[in-house]
Amino acid sequence: MDYAGRLSRLRSAIEGADLDLLLVTHLPNIRYLSGFSGSTAALLVEPHGATLFTDGRYRTQAKQEVKSARIVIGRKSPLVTAAEWLAGRRKGSRGTLARQTSVGIEPESITVGMRDRLAALLKGTARLRSAPPLVERARMVKDADEILRIRRAIELGASLFQVACKTIRPGVSEVEVAAAMEYAARCAGAEGMSFATILAAGPRSAIVHGRASRARIPRRGFVVCDFGVILADYCSDRTRTVHVGQPSREARHLYDAVLEAQLAAIAAVRPGVTASEVDGAARRVLRSRKLARYFTHSTGHGLGLEIHEAPRLAAGQAQKLEPGMVVTIEPGVYVPGKWGVRIEDVVLVTATGCEVLTPADKDLVVIE
Ligand code: ZN
Ligand code: ZN
Repeated sequence: MDYAGRLSRLRSAIEGADLDLLLVTHLPNIRYLSGFSGSTAALLVEPHGATLFTDGRYRTQAKQEVKSARIVIGRKSPLVTAAEWLAGRRKGSRGTLARQTSVGIEPESITVGMRDRLAALLKGTARLRSAPPLVERARMVKDADEILRIRRAIELGASLFQVACKTIRPGVSEVEVAAAMEYAARCAGAEGMSFATILAAGPRSAIVHGRASRARIPRRGFVVCDFGVILADYCSDRTRTVHVGQPSREARHLYDAVLEAQLAAIAAVRPGVTASEVDGAARRVLRSRKLARYFTHSTGHGLGLEIHEAPRLAAGQAQKLEPGMVVTIEPGVYVPGKWGVRIEDVVLVTATGCEVLTPADKDLVVIE
């Protein structure tokens, strides 16, 4: 991973945002910029260099993982260590500073209490300012190394659908199916699941995020399977909806409508279109089938180090798609108390359109 390149591009963005320094606290951002995978850290990015603050538990790991920043091990929380380190250094050079240093913080990942504490520690030497999401913006466009890792995660994730199809039977509980998938994922080398496996059968398929429960799979009905793995830090995400027992004509129509909406959204993905245009393409199809009111979430999201990243493919999102972005396309229809269908693929925005990274088996699977 090109950590030095990422840091150098971030420095330009920091300058462009009129900040002197950026104190990065969102752990996936720290991982993106330095490779550090521990659970406690802060990363201070300065015009000439970067410093990772963590505690003694991570001394060995930080040394192994971090080559692009100097490492400071503290006894207190990494943010306090960072503030004291910065305040001490600034005090040492006081008098030469024409103005207070402007330190950007990441408002989405810092508590109000910690912000107050930092402000007190830096009083007189630096001023805190909420920074725009500079690292998140950079992370939207994936480089070749990241795309390769995402492809591998998707490949592994795809194999789990076969496990699901073999395990889903009337009378088997949703958690048993999820457990079989998750066991297979771990055996194949996944670090974990990218989120709690969604397995929602029968009327529960109308619950958008129906985590696998102890409910048993009924003799007839849809089963929504939404699952992903983390492999070499990167996430996969895929949804397939199968039908147990022969589907009614109405069930087939519903499935076909969602599939048509999903294909329309995929066809709309290309550089220059806005995220909301892609969302609109899916919604238009469902509107024509009088199903739009049952499509209650956005069409998709970016993914990478996190399962949900920018951009969001939703109404009102003006973000334009660019080559290298990796997003999900996942329209769904949920009729409360009755049933639900969702179909989700991951696509890579290319120079001319997009490449569907998820294997394209989307005919309705019927499990007898
Ligand atoms: Zn999903
Ligand atoms: Zn998703």
